Amino acid sequence: MAIATVNPATGEQLRSFDALTDEELDLALQRSVDAFDDYRATSFEYRSALLHRAAEILDDEADELGRIATTEMGKTLSAAVAEVHKCAKGCRWFADHAREMLADEPWPIEGARVYTRYEPLGPVLAVMPWNFPYWQVFRFAAPALMAGNVGLLKHASNVPQAARAIEDVLRRAGFPEGVFQTLLIPSSKVDSVIDDDRVRAATLTGSEPAGRQVGATAGRNVKTSVLELGGSDVFIVMPSTDLEDTVSHAVTSRLLNNGQSCINAKRFVVHTDVADEFTRLMVERMETVRVGDPTDSGTDLGPLSSADAVSTLDKQVRDTVAAGGRLLTGGEPLGGRGHYYPPTVLTDIPQGSPAHREEFFGPVALLWRANDVDEAIRIANDSPFGLGGSAWTRDPGEQQRFVTEVETGMMYINRYTESTPEVPFGGAKNSGYGRELARFGPHSFVNAKTVWIA
Ligand code: NDP
Repeated sequence: MAIATVNPATGEQLRSFDALTDEELDLALQRSVDAFDDYRATSFEYRSALLHRAAEILDDEADELGRIATTEMGKTLSAAVAEVHKCAKGCRWFADHAREMLADEPWPIEGARVYTRYEPLGPVLAVMPWNFPYWQVFRFAAPALMAGNVGLLKHASNVPQAARAIEDVLRRAGFPEGVFQTLLIPSSKVDSVIDDDRVRAATLTGSEPAGRQVGATAGRNVKTSVLELGGSDVFIVMPSTDLEDTVSHAVTSRLLNNGQSCINAKRFVVHTDVADEFTRLMVERMETVRVGDPTDSGTDLGPLSSADAVSTLDKQVRDTVAAGGRLLTGGEPLGGRGHYYPPTVLTDIPQGSPAHREEFFGPVALLWRANDVDEAIRIANDSPFGLGGSAWTRDPGEQQRFVTEVETGMMYINRYTESTPEVPFGGAKNSGYGRELARFGPHSFVNAKTVWIA
């Protein structure tokens, strides 16, 4: 895959970049390990001041940075600008809180001073996806840099300008040379970077196959890894909820980021008593969504990230329909210029069809019916994924059953899954392992060293 900016709204290639040569890559890894020698000894105050400065730059330049993301991967400009401000918030939050999270932790041993000290690991490789080209990176980088690690970013090949912009923001914020570098390399080079002794850990956000590969390579090298992979989040609707309001959250969650977020609600499991009405309202709402140019402020849904993304989704929908699924609206790529796919609703999902087993990365809502709580939980858990999920019910007993019995890393009640720096984020089952954000962020890449002073 070429390292290039191709505008998904037009299909036009705007810029391409040469990948690093082996020599350039080697120099970058050496710069990283050299930078770590000094950076690991810096104070929390110093790192915090730099991250605050990065937050200021992000806020000041949110419009320009947002425009890069929209041009490279097609999210609406308003969503892209909001994403940049969210990165600023993340930087500030870790700048203000990482110190207390990483303070020495005492243990009660009589007659000795015993504690855990959290030490940075060194260069950490972050393999990142294009869907939130800034947030996914800052979600890793802010806590990792506060912990004293140094970062190496292998970003998705379709967002090279965002990747370069992130390094540039952090450099201008004052992080010394080598503390955070973007490596323009193809995914075929990732294994060799993880194999390199100078790199101490790896994190990947992206698809399950890529996660398996990176996790296996890290494991072979006995290196720490964190995997944040795909999801097919369930959205359970029970009769006690306010249906109009719930449908509106359902549509918002399904279409966030043009339907290309790991935590979009994707599988809607609706109690039979309200299923007909929920379906009618959902189809109605999906049909009023304004699809178009992502830079236009009136647009709700922009293009998918690439021509490949459209053909993958199109095939998943067609194969599901061929297996007996029923299309209620949408279901046909929009054609013409750009990579557009319409809001789509599918129901009567057959067992074993793509809609049952795979993640649909685009604006397609998949509907199931459930006769009771037991059946809703069974359908919710009948998925290889377990990232997030939500359940919409006013009944406290039902709420507790969903919290306890749905197999996910995150379960939201009467609210759809979202990520924010203060709250841990991550999945179960094939959605990955490890947690990001909150106190898990700074703790992901540290040596928890036991110290015993007699
Ligand atoms: P990928 O997993 O292919 O890409 C994510 C990152 O991993 C990119 O930097 C990519 O580099 C790199 N990568 C890909 N294959 C390998 C590999 N074998 N070894 C090491 N690194 C690799 O995701 P896509 O962008 O292709 O999206 C496809 C699917 O991934 C989606 O349908 C969705 O299921 C899932 N996804 C999940 C996300 C999430 O937030 N959890 C985000 C994005 C995608 P390069 O671009 O150079 O190939």
